[in-house]
Amino acid sequence: MMKTNPMTYLANMEQIESDVFEKVLSRVSSYDYTQYKDCDVKCALLKDTLNPDDFAALLSPAAKPYLEEMAQKSKALTHKHFGNSIQLFTPLYISNYCENNCIYCGFNCKNKIKRGKLSLEEINTELKTISETGLKEILILTGESRQKSDIQYIGEAIKLAKTYFSTIGIEIYPLNSEEYSYLNNCGADFVSVYQETYNLVKYESVHLSGPKRVFPYRFHAQERALMGHMYGVSFGALLGLDDFRKDAFATGMHAYFVQRKYPSAEISFSLPRIRPYINHEEKEINDVDEGALFQVMLAYRLFMPYASITISTREKAHFRDHTLGVCATKMSAGVVVGVGGHVAEIKGDEQFEISDPRSVAEIHSMILQKGLQPVYTNHITSKGLVGWGVW
Ligand code: SF4
Repeated sequence: MMKTNPMTYLANMEQIESDVFEKVLSRVSSYDYTQYKDCDVKCALLKDTLNPDDFAALLSPAAKPYLEEMAQKSKALTHKHFGNSIQLFTPLYISNYCENNCIYCGFNCKNKIKRGKLSLEEINTELKTISETGLKEILILTGESRQKSDIQYIGEAIKLAKTYFSTIGIEIYPLNSEEYSYLNNCGADFVSVYQETYNLVKYESVHLSGPKRVFPYRFHAQERALMGHMYGVSFGALLGLDDFRKDAFATGMHAYFVQRKYPSAEISFSLPRIRPYINHEEKEINDVDEGALFQVMLAYRLFMPYASITISTREKAHFRDHTLGVCATKMSAGVVVGVGGHVAEIKGDEQFEISDPRSVAEIHSMILQKGLQPVYTNHITSKGLVGWGVW
């Protein structure tokens, strides 16, 4: 089969006026992290406000001996802007059908796994059960299939979620701005889209088919979501898929330029590392060690002090706990990455393996033991102030 050009939009994909794409790619193409020295890192650590070059230095190998200094500064900034708060949420996968062939993901359309999709009644039961744990924020996820999980289906799921939760995030296929606006009207508040890698050549080689292959449409998803009135957007690359330092730099620059263009947008980072999944050999995985991941998280905090940083259940419990209050401000709890699974058996296989299966109550008490404060909601909805709900 002839491969499509990843720079060519498909029919019905909205194209927006934006210079963010060129700005980010031009910065990344000239980023040579081997050029940074001790003095560049020390200089960045002395500043109150970092510029992109300082950020680049903190992501470089030259910053590795300075992790302790970076962590201390990061902790002070995290406390200044977020206090002791650690925001909790959980994901709910409502469908794992996918039209894309991403070679690193268990949901890819060529992978023979158990596929499933929750009915609205099943979604309601899952949501109700999750809400009984005390959580007030939920992230609704689907595989990327417009056919199996269309906008109306996702919209109905969001409306149901709004009856139990004060904050609704979505991690679904990228949409046009008017579709984001529709889901915002249904009750969605923020949008998570991972670019996976900002290296176009690599991107093309790992997205073999499906709409996701169109690189710039995915890149502009956060801007379209903000044009569709979402209050927040999340950025992330799948670290380990390509050169993680370059991808981490690109992600930071992407968030930075979007923040400058949309100053009131709430910006978040997620830092997934590539994980084993069903029918995949672990030895093929290009790993990024915990020290490297921690360095990236610290560099994000120092560069963008107001941005929320989520620590994934892909990571081990001890590492997740260690990042709290130092740089991470948000974490998932009571996580199931199959379709459904909070009430009955999962209806579709998992996307990847998780490393931290702790319940909401366990995470809650761990946060308190660290002298931090679990926070369940910090968002005012159309129904009124829900408040900084804490147990
Ligand atoms: S990464 Fe997303 S789009 Fe790609 S196969 Fe997995 S679920 Fe589908």
